[in-house]
Amino acid sequence: MNNSIIIGNWKMNTTLADAVVLATGIKKGTENVDGVEIVLCPPSVWLVPVQEALGKSFNKKIALGAQNIFWEDEGAYTGEISPKMIKNICKYAIIGHSERRRYLFEDNIIVNKKVHGALLNNLTAVLCIGEHNKLTDEKKGRGRPTKKDKFNNIFYQLEKSLLGITKKMMQNVIIAYEPIWAIGTGKPATGIYAVKMIFMIRERIAKIYDWKTASSVKILYGGSVTSDNILEFTGQPEINGVLAGGASLKAKEFVKMCQLAAK
Ligand code: PEP
Repeated sequence: MNNSIIIGNWKMNTTLADAVVLATGIKKGTENVDGVEIVLCPPSVWLVPVQEALGKSFNKKIALGAQNIFWEDEGAYTGEISPKMIKNICKYAIIGHSERRRYLFEDNIIVNKKVHGALLNNLTAVLCIGEHNKLTDEKKGRGRPTKKDKFNNIFYQLEKSLLGITKKMMQNVIIAYEPIWAIGTGKPATGIYAVKMIFMIRERIAKIYDWKTASSVKILYGGSVTSDNILEFTGQPEINGVLAGGASLKAKEFVKMCQLAAK
Protein backbone atom coordinates (compact mmCIF):
# COMPACT_ATOMS: atom_id res chain seq x y z
CA MET A 1 0.00 0.00 0.00
CA ASN A 2 1.31 3.46 -0.89
CA ASN A 3 1.89 6.07 1.78
CA SER A 4 -0.89 8.60 2.29
CA ILE A 5 -0.10 12.10 1.10
CA ILE A 6 -0.93 14.83 3.57
CA ILE A 7 -0.89 18.30 2.04
CA GLY A 8 -1.12 21.43 4.16
CA ASN A 9 -2.40 24.46 2.30
CA TRP A 10 -1.60 27.50 4.40
CA LYS A 11 -3.51 29.78 2.01
CA MET A 12 -2.89 33.54 2.55
CA ASN A 13 -1.91 33.11 6.19
CA THR A 14 1.22 33.50 8.31
CA THR A 15 3.81 36.23 8.71
CA LEU A 16 7.40 35.29 7.99
CA ALA A 17 7.94 34.56 11.70
CA ASP A 18 4.72 32.48 11.90
CA ALA A 19 5.72 30.49 8.82
CA VAL A 20 9.14 29.61 10.22
CA VAL A 21 7.69 28.66 13.62
CA LEU A 22 4.99 26.53 11.99
CA ALA A 23 7.41 24.74 9.65
CA THR A 24 9.86 24.14 12.50
CA GLY A 25 7.08 22.75 14.70
CA ILE A 26 5.93 20.38 11.96
CA LYS A 27 9.50 19.30 11.25
CA LYS A 28 10.17 18.50 14.90
CA GLY A 29 6.81 16.83 15.45
CA THR A 30 7.13 14.53 12.46
CA GLU A 31 10.74 13.48 12.97
CA ASN A 32 9.66 9.98 14.01
CA VAL A 33 6.67 9.74 11.70
CA ASP A 34 7.18 7.39 8.78
CA GLY A 35 4.85 5.98 6.19
CA VAL A 36 3.30 9.26 5.13
CA GLU A 37 4.26 11.87 2.56
CA ILE A 38 4.04 15.39 3.97
CA VAL A 39 3.70 18.42 1.72
CA LEU A 40 3.65 22.00 2.99
CA CYS A 41 2.25 24.76 0.79
CA PRO A 42 3.12 28.09 2.40
CA PRO A 43 2.49 31.42 0.68
CA SER A 44 5.00 31.68 -2.18
CA VAL A 45 7.00 34.48 -0.48
CA TRP A 46 7.76 32.12 2.38
CA LEU A 47 8.83 29.12 0.28
CA VAL A 48 12.54 29.82 0.66
CA PRO A 49 12.47 30.64 4.40
CA VAL A 50 10.36 27.53 5.01
CA GLN A 51 12.79 25.44 2.97
CA GLU A 52 15.61 26.82 5.13
CA ALA A 53 13.67 26.12 8.34
CA LEU A 54 13.11 22.52 7.24
CA GLY A 55 16.80 22.04 6.55
CA LYS A 56 17.60 18.37 6.16
CA SER A 57 13.95 17.30 6.44
CA PHE A 58 13.32 19.04 3.16
CA ASN A 59 12.96 16.58 0.30
CA LYS A 60 13.53 13.62 2.63
CA LYS A 61 10.39 13.71 4.68
CA ILE A 62 8.68 17.00 3.94
CA ALA A 63 8.25 18.36 0.44
CA LEU A 64 7.10 21.82 -0.56
CA GLY A 65 4.29 22.78 -2.84
CA ALA A 66 3.16 26.05 -4.40
CA GLN A 67 -0.41 27.15 -3.83
CA ASN A 68 -0.60 28.36 -7.41
CA ILE A 69 1.54 28.92 -10.49
CA PHE A 70 1.23 30.80 -13.76
CA TRP A 71 1.30 28.76 -16.97
CA GLU A 72 4.21 30.49 -18.77
CA ASP A 73 7.83 30.15 -17.66
CA GLU A 74 8.62 33.88 -17.91
CA GLY A 75 7.46 37.12 -19.48
CA ALA A 76 5.36 40.24 -18.93
CA TYR A 77 2.93 38.82 -16.37
CA THR A 78 3.08 41.22 -13.45
CA GLY A 79 2.70 39.63 -10.06
CA GLU A 80 2.76 36.05 -11.26
CA ILE A 81 5.06 33.22 -10.23
CA SER A 82 6.15 30.74 -12.86
CA PRO A 83 6.65 26.98 -12.58
CA LYS A 84 10.24 27.48 -13.72
CA MET A 85 10.89 29.83 -10.77
CA ILE A 86 9.75 27.35 -8.16
CA LYS A 87 10.71 24.03 -9.68
CA ASN A 88 13.93 23.75 -7.69
CA ILE A 89 12.15 24.39 -4.40
CA CYS A 90 8.78 22.72 -4.88
CA LYS A 91 7.82 19.21 -5.84
CA TYR A 92 4.11 20.00 -6.09
CA ALA A 93 1.85 22.79 -7.33
CA ILE A 94 -1.78 23.12 -6.32
CA ILE A 95 -3.79 24.05 -9.38
CA GLY A 96 -7.42 25.11 -9.72
CA HIS A 97 -8.21 25.52 -6.02
CA SER A 98 -11.86 26.52 -5.66
CA GLU A 99 -10.87 29.80 -3.99
CA ARG A 100 -8.89 30.79 -7.10
CA ARG A 101 -11.73 29.67 -9.33
CA ARG A 102 -14.11 31.78 -7.25
CA TYR A 103 -12.17 34.95 -6.44
CA LEU A 104 -9.79 35.08 -9.40
CA PHE A 105 -12.18 33.65 -11.98
CA GLU A 106 -9.88 30.82 -12.99
CA ASP A 107 -11.72 28.63 -15.43
CA ASN A 108 -10.93 25.17 -16.74
CA ILE A 109 -9.01 26.60 -19.71
CA ILE A 110 -6.64 28.45 -17.38
CA VAL A 111 -6.43 25.44 -15.08
CA ASN A 112 -5.55 23.22 -18.04
CA LYS A 113 -2.75 25.58 -19.12
CA LYS A 114 -1.38 25.55 -15.57
CA VAL A 115 -1.41 21.75 -15.43
CA HIS A 116 0.66 21.73 -18.64
CA GLY A 117 2.99 24.40 -17.22
CA ALA A 118 3.55 22.38 -14.05
CA LEU A 119 4.25 19.12 -15.86
CA LEU A 120 6.61 20.75 -18.35
CA ASN A 121 8.66 21.83 -15.35
CA ASN A 122 8.65 18.42 -13.66
CA LEU A 123 6.29 19.52 -10.92
CA THR A 124 3.50 17.25 -9.77
CA ALA A 125 0.20 19.00 -10.40
CA VAL A 126 -2.35 18.74 -7.60
CA LEU A 127 -5.48 19.36 -9.61
CA CYS A 128 -8.43 20.48 -7.47
CA ILE A 129 -11.97 19.71 -8.51
CA GLY A 130 -15.18 19.86 -6.52
CA GLU A 131 -18.89 20.43 -6.68
CA HIS A 132 -20.71 23.41 -5.14
CA ASN A 133 -23.62 21.48 -3.73
CA LYS A 134 -23.80 18.07 -2.21
CA LEU A 135 -24.88 15.60 -4.86
CA THR A 136 -27.84 13.60 -3.78
CA ASP A 137 -29.40 10.79 -5.75
CA GLU A 138 -32.46 12.96 -6.43
CA LYS A 139 -30.27 15.69 -7.88
CA LYS A 140 -28.44 13.33 -10.20
CA GLY A 141 -29.80 12.98 -13.69
CA ARG A 142 -32.91 15.14 -13.16
CA GLY A 143 -33.69 17.44 -16.04
CA ARG A 144 -31.09 19.03 -18.24
CA PRO A 145 -27.99 20.50 -16.65
CA THR A 146 -27.95 24.30 -16.76
CA LYS A 147 -24.81 26.12 -17.87
CA LYS A 148 -24.04 26.71 -14.19
CA ASP A 149 -24.48 23.01 -13.39
CA LYS A 150 -22.14 22.18 -16.22
CA PHE A 151 -19.39 24.43 -14.89
CA ASN A 152 -19.84 23.06 -11.39
CA ASN A 153 -19.76 19.51 -12.63
CA ILE A 154 -16.65 17.74 -11.39
CA PHE A 155 -16.42 15.52 -14.45
CA TYR A 156 -16.58 18.53 -16.72
CA GLN A 157 -13.82 20.18 -14.61
CA LEU A 158 -11.78 17.00 -14.82
CA GLU A 159 -12.07 16.49 -18.56
CA LYS A 160 -11.40 20.12 -19.47
CA SER A 161 -8.51 20.45 -17.02
CA LEU A 162 -6.84 17.35 -18.43
CA LEU A 163 -7.07 18.25 -22.12
CA GLY A 164 -3.86 17.26 -23.90
CA ILE A 165 -2.50 15.45 -20.85
CA THR A 166 -1.28 12.02 -21.93
CA LYS A 167 -1.38 8.76 -19.98
CA LYS A 168 2.33 9.14 -19.28
CA MET A 169 1.88 12.71 -18.04
CA MET A 170 -0.85 11.48 -15.68
CA GLN A 171 1.89 9.90 -13.58
CA ASN A 172 2.62 13.41 -12.36
CA VAL A 173 -0.96 14.45 -11.70
CA ILE A 174 -2.72 14.08 -8.37
CA ILE A 175 -6.42 14.84 -8.11
CA ALA A 176 -7.66 16.64 -5.00
CA TYR A 177 -11.38 16.05 -4.70
CA GLU A 178 -12.60 18.99 -2.65
CA PRO A 179 -16.35 19.47 -2.39
CA ILE A 180 -16.71 23.25 -2.16
CA TRP A 181 -19.47 22.97 0.44
CA ALA A 182 -16.98 21.24 2.74
CA ILE A 183 -14.04 23.67 2.40
CA GLY A 184 -13.56 25.85 5.46
CA THR A 185 -17.08 25.10 6.71
CA GLY A 186 -16.26 22.64 9.47
CA LYS A 187 -18.66 20.26 7.73
CA PRO A 188 -16.61 17.58 6.00
CA ALA A 189 -18.06 15.01 3.66
CA THR A 190 -18.51 11.60 5.22
CA GLY A 191 -15.94 8.98 4.35
CA ILE A 192 -18.64 7.07 2.47
CA TYR A 193 -19.62 10.08 0.38
CA ALA A 194 -15.96 10.86 -0.40
CA VAL A 195 -15.28 7.26 -1.44
CA LYS A 196 -18.33 7.25 -3.70
CA MET A 197 -17.31 10.47 -5.40
CA ILE A 198 -13.67 9.43 -5.72
CA PHE A 199 -14.69 6.13 -7.25
CA MET A 200 -16.75 8.02 -9.83
CA ILE A 201 -13.77 10.28 -10.56
CA ARG A 202 -11.62 7.17 -11.07
CA GLU A 203 -14.23 5.71 -13.40
CA ARG A 204 -14.18 8.93 -15.42
CA ILE A 205 -10.38 8.87 -15.61
CA ALA A 206 -10.62 5.27 -16.85
CA LYS A 207 -13.03 6.47 -19.51
CA ILE A 208 -10.63 9.22 -20.63
CA TYR A 209 -7.52 7.00 -20.42
CA ASP A 210 -7.83 3.41 -19.18
CA TRP A 211 -8.18 1.51 -15.89
CA LYS A 212 -4.43 1.09 -15.48
CA THR A 213 -4.01 4.88 -15.46
CA ALA A 214 -7.10 5.40 -13.31
CA SER A 215 -6.04 2.97 -10.63
CA SER A 216 -2.58 4.44 -10.33
CA VAL A 217 -3.69 8.10 -10.09
CA LYS A 218 -3.61 9.36 -6.53
CA ILE A 219 -6.85 10.97 -5.47
CA LEU A 220 -7.02 12.96 -2.24
CA TYR A 221 -9.95 14.27 -0.26
CA GLY A 222 -10.07 17.88 0.97
CA GLY A 223 -12.65 19.82 2.99
CA SER A 224 -12.60 20.45 6.75
CA VAL A 225 -10.22 17.58 7.51
CA THR A 226 -8.96 17.55 11.09
CA SER A 227 -7.34 15.04 13.43
CA ASP A 228 -10.85 14.07 14.52
CA ASN A 229 -11.94 12.87 11.11
CA ILE A 230 -8.76 12.16 9.08
CA LEU A 231 -8.99 8.39 9.56
CA GLU A 232 -12.41 8.40 7.95
CA PHE A 233 -10.57 9.34 4.76
CA THR A 234 -7.07 7.91 4.99
CA GLY A 235 -8.52 4.66 6.32
CA GLN A 236 -10.15 4.04 2.92
CA PRO A 237 -8.04 2.30 0.28
CA GLU A 238 -9.81 4.37 -2.40
CA ILE A 239 -8.51 7.64 -0.87
CA ASN A 240 -4.79 8.33 -1.19
CA GLY A 241 -4.49 11.16 1.31
CA VAL A 242 -5.89 14.55 2.23
CA LEU A 243 -5.50 18.22 1.46
CA ALA A 244 -6.03 20.29 4.59
CA GLY A 245 -6.40 24.05 4.92
CA GLY A 246 -7.34 25.36 8.38
CA ALA A 247 -5.99 22.37 10.27
CA SER A 248 -2.57 22.74 8.64
CA LEU A 249 -2.01 26.10 10.34
CA LYS A 250 -1.58 24.57 13.79
CA ALA A 251 1.63 22.56 14.10
CA LYS A 252 0.30 20.26 16.85
CA GLU A 253 -2.89 19.49 14.96
CA PHE A 254 -1.12 18.93 11.64
CA VAL A 255 1.47 16.67 13.28
CA LYS A 256 -1.32 14.67 14.89
CA MET A 257 -2.95 14.27 11.49
CA CYS A 258 0.31 13.01 10.00
CA GLN A 259 0.78 10.58 12.91
CA LEU A 260 -2.73 9.19 12.50
CA ALA A 261 -2.41 8.84 8.72
CA ALA A 262 0.90 7.07 9.12
CA LYS A 263 -0.59 4.27 11.23
C1 PEP B 1 -8.38 23.69 1.31
O1 PEP B 1 -7.80 24.73 1.52
O2 PEP B 1 -8.25 23.13 0.24
C2 PEP B 1 -9.23 23.12 2.36
C3 PEP B 1 -9.70 21.90 2.19
O3 PEP B 1 -9.47 23.88 3.46
P1 PEP B 1 -10.10 23.37 4.86
O4 PEP B 1 -9.34 22.16 5.28
O5 PEP B 1 -9.93 24.52 5.79
O6 PEP B 1 -11.55 23.04 4.61
